[in-house]
Amino acid sequence: MNIILLGPPGAGKGTQASRLVADRGMVQLSTGDMLRAAVKAGTPAGLKAKAVMAAGELVSDGIVSALIGERLDEGQTGTGVIFDGFPRNGEQVEILDQLLAERGQRLDRVVELTVDEGVLTERIVGRFTCAQCGEGYHDRFKQPAVPGTCDVCGSVEFKRRPDDTAETIATRMAIYRGETAPILPLYEARGLVHRVDGMAEIEQVTAAIEAALDG
Ligand code: ADP
Ligand code: ADP
Ligand code: ZN
Repeated sequence: MNIILLGPPGAGKGTQASRLVADRGMVQLSTGDMLRAAVKAGTPAGLKAKAVMAAGELVSDGIVSALIGERLDEGQTGTGVIFDGFPRNGEQVEILDQLLAERGQRLDRVVELTVDEGVLTERIVGRFTCAQCGEGYHDRFKQPAVPGTCDVCGSVEFKRRPDDTAETIATRMAIYRGETAPILPLYEARGLVHRVDGMAEIEQVTAAIEAALDG
């Protein structure tokens, strides 16, 4: 089963994707994670993407689709792929259709996480991750059980994203509204969209997504 998790920055896409990976053996393909890895490795794509990401704008469709295509070609897609942060505009919708069709695959569901815009800034500025294993946390909403120690791997090092600042949030939200939200009607026309309340507790959101996948 191949699905898209769609929602604005801070909606909980990454949080939910990693829970689906653990619960269902699916594989998370996050273009944001892939781009951050490319920036860190200093690849040509990473060098181009760095400033664009820091400004909260969209990296070119060509760079993002190449990353996704390469990853799909590696195989090892478990019980299915969760596209997290991709597609983000109409062009990328077409690219994904083509990437899947070329590989004899299809898209099964689009899960939209709906959230009140008012909570997103707090979710984004309070977000941090384990530097070792990438587990996601939040200053208020999801602290490690033992303060300062990762629940999953025991690491004591954490990091914050350089683009998770109050300054980029307005840009990122405007791009979501202007370019990403308009792809929903395309998928609605295909009967693929399931809406889930992203304002609920993390565990409840997972349960609602699972119900949408099994329904
Ligand atoms: P996205 O991948 O959509 O940008 P994240 O999954 O990184 O969003 O979530 C943003 C922040 O909000 C993280 O710090 C995460 O721990 C927290 N978070 C995610 N889902 C919820 C929720 N349902 N309630 C409260 N906080 C949440
Ligand atoms: P969030 O869910 O908080 O918006 P992501 O990790 O999905 O963050 O993306 C971080 C940044 O990476 C985006 O602001 C954008 O610059 C770039 N990016 C990620 N995915 C895409 C994509 N599909 N197309 C273009 N740019 C992307
Ligand atoms: Zn960890």
